[in-house]
Amino acid sequence: MKIGVLALQGAFAEHLSSLSRLGVTGVELRQRADITPDLDGLVLPGGESTVMGKLLRELDMFAPLKTMIQGGMPVFSTCAGLILLAARADNQEKTYFEVMDITVRRNAYGRQLGSFSTQAEFAGIGVIPMIFIRAPYISAVGPQAQILAVVDGHIVAARQDAMLCTAFHPELSSDLRVHDYFLRTVAGRAAGNAA
Ligand code: GLN
Repeated sequence: MKIGVLALQGAFAEHLSSLSRLGVTGVELRQRADITPDLDGLVLPGGESTVMGKLLRELDMFAPLKTMIQGGMPVFSTCAGLILLAARADNQEKTYFEVMDITVRRNAYGRQLGSFSTQAEFAGIGVIPMIFIRAPYISAVGPQAQILAVVDGHIVAARQDAMLCTAFHPELSSDLRVHDYFLRTVAGRAAGNAA
């Protein structure tokens, strides 16, 4: 299994480490040539969505990644990565891949609660640690997306087909269950393709 981790900026090294602890090879996607057909899944890390969006365009990586995701490539996005996937944003004009039927609220927790950690239920996994850093939340999901976790009345994780997003950072905790959940989606798709 080969997972491409977008490595332009932000917390990509932590995702590579989580994947390697689960015995999976992650490859850094730094330029268009790194986006190869043998990838089984993608990770879009946290960081700054504006910077990542700009670099994706400048490096000509935006279109090939969008095509892959639209083609069903499993993708796991955290925090800024979630903003990149969202079809809609309710507090800024800018949107990016627009592939997930969710509305995102960027920097939703304001300054005071900019960073915090908690524990909450994640559907299908159980109670897990959740670390939030200047996080967005999902203010609405459309009919195509499914809510996976809610904290203080705000949606913080969702999925839609093979797309998974979290407003928090599983890669910053030692709990590997969300990465494992994603890898099961990847394995399921690979098995489906082989059949
Ligand atoms: N505030 C960042 C953004 O809007 C997201 C923060 C993060 O990824 N930790 O892009």
